[in-house]
Amino acid sequence: GSTLEITDLHVEIEGKEILKGVNLTLTGGEFHAVMGPNGTGKSTLASAIMGHPKYEITSGSITLDGEDVLEMEVDERAKAGLFLAMQYPSEISGVTTSDFLRSSINSKREEGDEINLMKFIKEMDESMDYLDIDKNMAQRYLNEGFSGGEKKRNEILQLMMLKPEIGILDEIDSGLDIDALKVVAKGINKMRDEQFGCLIITHYQRLLNYITPDKVHVMMQGRIVKSGGPELAQRLEAEGYDWIKQELGIED
Ligand code: ADP
Ligand code: MG
Ligand code: MG
Repeated sequence: GSTLEITDLHVEIEGKEILKGVNLTLTGGEFHAVMGPNGTGKSTLASAIMGHPKYEITSGSITLDGEDVLEMEVDERAKAGLFLAMQYPSEISGVTTSDFLRSSINSKREEGDEINLMKFIKEMDESMDYLDIDKNMAQRYLNEGFSGGEKKRNEILQLMMLKPEIGILDEIDSGLDIDALKVVAKGINKMRDEQFGCLIITHYQRLLNYITPDKVHVMMQGRIVKSGGPELAQRLEAEGYDWIKQELGIED
């Protein structure tokens, strides 16, 4: 498995500091949850790891197995084994889900070593069955007109087929009904092995009823202010975030 190491990361958007020194280490085989109130920088962290140009890293480092991620282009980050399921997946008109998946897989492989078409279709069919995805989604344009639940299942389909070293799932649970939530959790749990590390960003504890994280981190005002085991998520569900603010003397 790979190790993603984030050290004292500071990130600005349009000159405003959003992340104010994030430290986090995720190793293959582990699932970590990042929780926190809205607007505290969870999505900023995910975007900064993947190299979104809007997010300026002003100091700190991100490494993957010791390699400097910040020096990599976005496509190099994917090739190195990083995967992001975005909070709001983009619609790509004119590119079918199937073509998108296949070219994503091939862009991680060497030239001349493209995935066999039959093998690809078989894997896609199996994964779609596993995620209760309607087969016609393969030929629809990526995310175009997809329901919220279809978009999120599609992100997990990509995760299952791309088999990254590190998955970062940004609010993969938002807007899902309970059945879709269970399916999404089932897909994530299927990925569990010693090679795969996952950062599960979520506002609510609900998803963690179906996925047991090894560690839970609480993010507030651009920093990880508390870490613990699954019991921390339970307490947040029961008591909200105010007790942490009080404990740390954080003002709203
Ligand atoms: P979270 O995911 O925890 O809800 P975000 O990372 O989305 O938080 O946002 C953190 C802060 O950064 C918020 O104050 C938000 O308004 C601001 N922000 C996020 N994205 C942008 C953007 N693209 N442009 C300007 N401000 C942004
Ligand atoms: Mg948010
Ligand atoms: Mg967010």
